Amino acid sequence: MCRMTVDSTSPQPVIVVGAGLSGLATALGVALRGGRAIVLESSDLLGGAAAYSGGMVWVAANHVEVREGIDDDLIRGEAYVRDLTHDHPELLDEEAMHLWLKTAPVAMEYWEKVGAIEWEIIPDLADYHDEAAGALAAGRYLTNAVIDGSVLGSWRQRLRVSPNFPVGMTCAQMHVKGRRRSSLAEAEDEEIAQHGGVPAFGKTDAAAADAVAGSDPLTFGTGVVASFLARVIQEPNIDIRLSTPVTDLLTDDSGAVIGVRASSPTGAIELHGPVVLATSTYDWNPELVEEFLGLSPDDFSSLAPTSVTGDGISMARRIGAAVARVPATRTPIVPGWNSRSATGVSNGPEYALPHCLMVDRTGKRFCDDSYWVTIVQGALNPDDRHLPFFLIWDEQHHHKYGLGLTPPAGEYPAEFVSSASTLVELGTALGVDGEQLARTVEDFNVHAVRGEDPAFGRGSVPFILRFAGDPKHQPNPVLGPLSEPPYYGTRLKFVGTGIGSSGLHADACGHVLHESGAVIPGLHAIGSVAALTTMGSGYNSGFALGRGLTLAYLVAQELVP
Ligand SMILES: Cc1cc2nc3c(=O)[nH]c(=O)nc-3n(C[C@H](O)[C@H](O)[C@H](O)COP(=O)(O)OP(=O)(O)OC[C@H]3O[C@@H](n4cnc5c(N)ncnc54)[C@H](O)[C@@H]3O)c2cc1C
Repeated sequence: MCRMTVDSTSPQPVIVVGAGLSGLATALGVALRGGRAIVLESSDLLGGAAAYSGGMVWVAANHVEVREGIDDDLIRGEAYVRDLTHDHPELLDEEAMHLWLKTAPVAMEYWEKVGAIEWEIIPDLADYHDEAAGALAAGRYLTNAVIDGSVLGSWRQRLRVSPNFPVGMTCAQMHVKGRRRSSLAEAEDEEIAQHGGVPAFGKTDAAAADAVAGSDPLTFGTGVVASFLARVIQEPNIDIRLSTPVTDLLTDDSGAVIGVRASSPTGAIELHGPVVLATSTYDWNPELVEEFLGLSPDDFSSLAPTSVTGDGISMARRIGAAVARVPATRTPIVPGWNSRSATGVSNGPEYALPHCLMVDRTGKRFCDDSYWVTIVQGALNPDDRHLPFFLIWDEQHHHKYGLGLTPPAGEYPAEFVSSASTLVELGTALGVDGEQLARTVEDFNVHAVRGEDPAFGRGSVPFILRFAGDPKHQPNPVLGPLSEPPYYGTRLKFVGTGIGSSGLHADACGHVLHESGAVIPGLHAIGSVAALTTMGSGYNSGFALGRGLTLAYLVAQELVP
């Protein structure tokens, strides 16, 4: 298993950097094994991107499947992961993949047994790429049972609440009702009426925190973090310090990490002990976004909290740590648009609904524009990039679906959405070749009325058809002509979700590797600060949190044997 790189008999505390899900779980694992942990968090809120997330935790052959009689095994789980990364086998760390897959079910059962979470399977949620070998129709997505925020006492005010999901509603309810804002508005009303909960969708953290009263159901990533936090605060040997950004790693003469320097509310501090970096990825660090994705701020934003600034990557690099790179075309970023939302950017499946398409400045399409995977691959193809790119839609789309915070038939924010009575004029307003745009739409419409897209295969991905399309629109839930003026358009950007894919190069046990290839003693990286070499170039929703919780379990075992 994982061999220690530091003296385990040392009385020093484990220094955990970052109070997202991976960091909190590591601290809990350390304390439950009799160790001490100090968790340093840069923000005044804890939970990180995990608290903003969907809270889906992907685990093949997990114990809840066994409990519920769902047939699964690690062989099929491995086949699935391999299939996702088959075109980039060189990126897959075989040892890390095996250890992750094998340990994840054990770790998830452990977290449940020690009272950190009560797992449920998200019903009927198929593996993302259901065409891949070993994919399962349901069972591998775990999330927490609803937890009431009151169990957190005063810590409730320090918990991030997701502006991205209808916290209070369960994952299962959301998937049944669909995630579209239009559907969501109805669903929210029903939920509020049913149990008096206060879904926090679209609210700021502060507003959501103010809403705490009586019944305070927490779900999605907010609920998963709340559940771990509720267990963490019962442990006297865990010291969580908010508003304490770690600025540097301290090393000894041999290059081993012996502690951290941090900036606390009372001044600079130094703490000594083995260090676990759990600072997440680089979404809000423009230099690292440029380096890893080749995207400028005009073309990139993020749904992750702004405290996700790549610090762990930068600090570790300063002491010689290596990074592992996953190509931008294989990074789980999604198309989104500027909006007046809490994060200033919205994303959603509106681009996968009928009566819209995507073009670049030439007015031409370049991919299956209903599926984020092909959009990323098409727009960021290093030999043929298509930036900037634009979403174009018509009045039918406006009337039926709206966009982000704009409800169906609502008024779009004029500063973000252009409109015109002809496609040529719309092109001019957006800085797109309007004549070509009109020809593109004309060609698209010929096939779209029949539910076909011979050019790029829009409407052929089962997952998108099922979860993002409009089931009422036939013959194809994601394809419809753009034939009713006025026409609308907005410049798109890629939106990160705290999963940079590229990051610190860590081995199967989370030991950070030096550029020389050697392990840096005393330093672990877990969660999304570490490159996703465990799963190569493949991504499935739930890998990030699942790997984070698995590594937290392993690292705690190693540091407190
Ligand atoms: C909208 C959205 C939906 C998502 N849905 C899912 C999903 O369903 N399933 C899934 O697996 N993944 C999902 N993700 C991705 C997932 O949330 C992240 O990859 C994951 O949270 C990373 O966990 P982590 O523990 O590494 O870091 P985080 O949870 O981001 O925590 C990192 C913490 O480190 C802190 N920090 C940063 N720098 C410093 C510093 N210098 N000193 C001290 N603290 C620091 C940050 O403030 C933060 O609190 C989603 C993300 C978003 C935004």
